[in-house]
Amino acid sequence: MLREKCAVFGVYGQGLSASRLAYFGLFALQHRGQESSGIVSADKGKLYIHKGMGLVPQIYQESDFKKLPGILAIGHNRYSTSLGSGLEHCQPVTDEEGILALAHNGNLPSVRKLRRFLLDKNIPIVGLNDSELMFQAIKYYLKSGSTLEEAIAVSYPMFTGVFSLLVMTKDKIAAVRDGCGVRPLAIGSMGKGFVFASETCALDAIGALFLREVKPGEMVVVDKKGLQSYQIVKGEQKLDIFEFVYFARLDSQLLGQSVYKVRQRSGELLATENPIEADVVIPVPESSIPVAIGFASKSGIPFEYGLSKNRYIGRTFILPDQNMRDRSVGLKLSPIPEVIKGKRVIIIDDSMVRGTTIKRIVKMIKNAGAEEVHVMISCPPVRFPDFYGIDTPHQSELIAAHKSVEQIKEFIGADSLHFLSVDNLIKATGLPKENFCTSCFTGEYPVNLGEKAKTITDVTMGVADL
Ligand code: AMP
Repeated sequence: MLREKCAVFGVYGQGLSASRLAYFGLFALQHRGQESSGIVSADKGKLYIHKGMGLVPQIYQESDFKKLPGILAIGHNRYSTSLGSGLEHCQPVTDEEGILALAHNGNLPSVRKLRRFLLDKNIPIVGLNDSELMFQAIKYYLKSGSTLEEAIAVSYPMFTGVFSLLVMTKDKIAAVRDGCGVRPLAIGSMGKGFVFASETCALDAIGALFLREVKPGEMVVVDKKGLQSYQIVKGEQKLDIFEFVYFARLDSQLLGQSVYKVRQRSGELLATENPIEADVVIPVPESSIPVAIGFASKSGIPFEYGLSKNRYIGRTFILPDQNMRDRSVGLKLSPIPEVIKGKRVIIIDDSMVRGTTIKRIVKMIKNAGAEEVHVMISCPPVRFPDFYGIDTPHQSELIAAHKSVEQIKEFIGADSLHFLSVDNLIKATGLPKENFCTSCFTGEYPVNLGEKAKTITDVTMGVADL
C-alpha cells in the first residue's frame, strides 16, 4: 500500500478558467507533495487530463491549459516515499471511460471492505491502491444509475480510514471528509464560483475568500445550482495535530487558528518548560522559524539565522533511501559560523522522526565552532507510526520508539535535548484536546485501523524518561 500525504484543490465557477486556477492553487500547496501533480478539467461532457512527475512548475506548460478547458477542475499534488510509485499512481485517479475523477489526501489503513465489494462485483482490483479502490466503488454506483451524491453516500461506509476527497464528474464536484476530519479541507468563494483546497493558503494565492472548512463526515457538492451540503455521518473533529507542527504552511488557518501563531506559542511554551542558559536561538528553517521567534521572545535569548537553507531543494524525505537522506542534509542546510562560533547554541526543529536530520545538524553546528548545542523539538517524541496520510516510517525506524530522551541525546551528540509536552502542544493550539488526533505521539488512533492495528507496539510504558 502506498502511504501518501498530499494536496487537493478544486474549482467550479461560471467564467473561471478552472485549470489555470487549479495550477496556481496546486503551486501554493507544493509543500504537501512534490512527487507528482495532476489536473483534470471538465468541459461539454468530457474530462481532460494532464499529469506528470515532479514539481508543479515543471509539469504544466502554458500550452497545456488549452487542453484543459472548462469551468470546473480538480487537481492533486502527490507525495509518497514508496519506491514503486510512478506516473501510474499519479492523481487525480481517472480511467479510460472518462466519467469520473478523484483526488485523495489521506490514507485508508484498511481496504478489506472495498476489496470484498469490488471482487463481488467482478471488478478487477490487482495493483490498485486505496484511492483507486474508492474510485472504482463510486464509479460502480454511478454506472448503475446513481447520482454522484448517491454514489458517494453508499460507498462511504466502505472507506475505512482517513480521506479528504474531491470527486468530479462532467458537471459537478463533491468535497468529502471522513468522520474525524483528520486531514484538512477548506471551502472558498470566488465571484459566483467555489473553490476547495487542502489549506487556506491556496485560497489566498488565487484571491478566493475563505468561507469555512468542510465538516467531518460532510459532503459538499457544487454544480450549476450552487453549493449543497449533506452530512453523511455524524462527525467528530480530530484534526491531525501534526498539521500544526510541521505539515501546513505558516500562512494557513486550521480550525480557525493561524498556523504561524500556534508555532510561535509552541516556542514560548518550550522556553517556559525548559529555562536553560544560552547565547543564541537558531531555527531549522522553514517550519521552526516562528517557534524560534516565540522561544527567543519568552526566554530573552537572541534569535539569529544560523543556518542558511537552499530554497531550491525539496524536503529531505523525498529521497528514498537512508544513505541519500544522510547526505542530503548538507546539500540543504549550511551553517553561518559568524553566528555560531564560541556560542552556547539552542537549535530548534519542529519534529524528530528517525533522528537523522538533527544528528547531522548538531554535528554541523559543532563543526562551525559552537561551544554547546542544546536541541529543542517543538512537539513530543514521535513513537507511533502514522496510518492517516502523513508519511512516517515503520515504527522500528522511529528513534523515540526504542530510545529514551537521554539515549537520543547521546545518539545525536547534543549537550541537552528537550521535547514539547503533549499538553503544551495542545495548549499552543488554543483548542481543546478532543479536537485532535495525536496518534503519532500517544498511540491513540481515532479512526479504525482494521488489520493494521496488529503492527503497532505499545511503547508508551517502555521508555523510562518520557
Ligand atoms: P528525521 O531526520 O527522520 O528525524 O526527520 C525529521 C525532520 O523531517 C524534521 O526536520 C522535520 O521537519 C521533517 N519531517 C517530519 N515529518 C515529516 C514528514 N512526514 N515528511 C517529511 N518531512 C518530515
